[in-house]
Amino acid sequence: MAAEQQTDFDVIAVGAGFAGLALIQSVREAGLSIKVFDKASDIGGTWNWNRYPGAASDSECYYYCLTFSKELLQDWSWSVRYPGWEENLSYMHYVADQCDLWPHIQLNTAIASADYQEDSNVWLVKTASGEEFTCKYFVSAMGMISEPVVPNIPGKDKFNGPCFHSSRWPEDLDYAGKRVGIIGAGATTVQMLPVMAETAADVTVFQRTPNFVMPAVQQEMTPEWEKEIKENYDEILAKCRNHVFGMAFDSPVGRDLADTPPEEVQRVFEEHWPRGSFRFVFETFDDLLSNADSNKAAADFIAGKIKEKVKDPELVELLTPEGYPLFAKRPPLDHGYYEAYNRDNVHLVDIKDREPIVEITETGIRTTENEYEFDIIVFATGFQAYTGAQEALPIRGRNGLLLRDKWEDVSGSIMGVFVAEFPNLFMVTGPQAPFANLPTSIEENVKYIIECISKMEKEGFDICEPQQAAEDEWVAHTAEIHDQTLMAQGHKVHSWMMGANIEDRNPRVLIYFGGANVYYDKLQESADAGFPEVEFKSAAA
Ligand code: NAP
Repeated sequence: MAAEQQTDFDVIAVGAGFAGLALIQSVREAGLSIKVFDKASDIGGTWNWNRYPGAASDSECYYYCLTFSKELLQDWSWSVRYPGWEENLSYMHYVADQCDLWPHIQLNTAIASADYQEDSNVWLVKTASGEEFTCKYFVSAMGMISEPVVPNIPGKDKFNGPCFHSSRWPEDLDYAGKRVGIIGAGATTVQMLPVMAETAADVTVFQRTPNFVMPAVQQEMTPEWEKEIKENYDEILAKCRNHVFGMAFDSPVGRDLADTPPEEVQRVFEEHWPRGSFRFVFETFDDLLSNADSNKAAADFIAGKIKEKVKDPELVELLTPEGYPLFAKRPPLDHGYYEAYNRDNVHLVDIKDREPIVEITETGIRTTENEYEFDIIVFATGFQAYTGAQEALPIRGRNGLLLRDKWEDVSGSIMGVFVAEFPNLFMVTGPQAPFANLPTSIEENVKYIIECISKMEKEGFDICEPQQAAEDEWVAHTAEIHDQTLMAQGHKVHSWMMGANIEDRNPRVLIYFGGANVYYDKLQESADAGFPEVEFKSAAA
């Protein structure tokens, strides 16, 4: 047995979103104790923070959920294909209620630091209010896209009205009849704009880089569809587990665009376009993300659709992406985004070439050409993905090494889970894990982490020491794959998928693009082989 340790909990995790909830269930099943802290006043993670108008998931509901309980999958009913934040949050409450997860969650508790204690091999976790807790295993469950980024625009504190990041939406904000300025034109703005435009006096979007926006095609959940889903859950989950992006898609389709005659290509694209979701990319041709010419054909098709949807040719030009491949930036899904630009009360300002923003003033936004007056300014300017939350929370490993410092140039890990020099630290979907349907990746990560912890408990180990050589290998492997993909061109267009949206920081490899399914296999192989990437030690030894 492991040397008897006196810690407050076996496991402490930070973040009460999907990852935190899945962890509680699994840690408890393993017979260990866990506390999950979250600075928010509710569980939900992303779905608690992102309450902007129109916020909804881009994955289809029936596989954007936790799957550890077959009963819950059968019992819960979704109302639409892409649930809004309120429904996602209700679902997470339902899971927490049904599985009695609440006793393990402490909300309204910001963690101020997490330090590995060399002498006792425990983690010391301090809260912002001065409480201290110890644990044997410390888990980052803080989410992949959770640390907001607000660019350093001069005067941003001067504005007289509400001015905030999209993930910090003021609870009582009434934008009806107001003039709204939105900085940024990414996935958040794509969802927010059509909803706000309905009641705001006018909405002006300040766009640096246009996106490839594909139709979401929202649908009501009918009783027939729900029945079909619930009768086929095993197959749906198997699809997610075996898909490159963890989605329940029917792909690969066994067909490359490069080998398909042009008229057939158009027919396939036209057939799939109205079906909605990322299926357009994954269920049409298998080479859209690997062959530049095939990718260009898909990009041209989308450009044609923008032309069909947007009436003003000048706007069409501004909204059409150029100079980068489809998926070098994460493409958003459309719920009326392009059509919103046909409204008289929606305006687009090109801040890349025509009129860069100079400053935020007391009354609005001044560009090199114009001064715009607003009642509300929204920074829909994205997040520091994969590393932001862990870096914001000082996490110190061996010899007081700060994770933030370790990741200054390379955000390395072992499969997005372990980091060398940080014993007994585990990350759920950390850097260099895949970018995929998140609940699928989260549950695969949690399973892997619990297997590792259970092995330690069973075999009497106190220390899980990630090996630098294994990290070097994963970093090199991830970089090699990344550099072969079209996604590697994301550095040209500030893609968060490479951290290229972070000012004063070098772009880096943040995502394992070898396929989520391949990655899940690698996790299983590692567990089956007894976790060769780490060294297990006992304190006494
Ligand atoms: P984003 O896609 O990174 O978009 C940020 C926007 O802000 C971009 O248009 C960016 O321009 C702009 N921006 C950033 N810094 C700027 C600066 N200094 N000056 C001017 N413009 C600046 O962020 P997001 O819309 O919040 O979405 C991030 C990710 O979160 C998404 O890709 C997605 O994975 C996830 N998300 C998911 C959903 C969903 O599933 N339903 C919804 C929203 C978000 P550039 O493009 O030129 O950098």
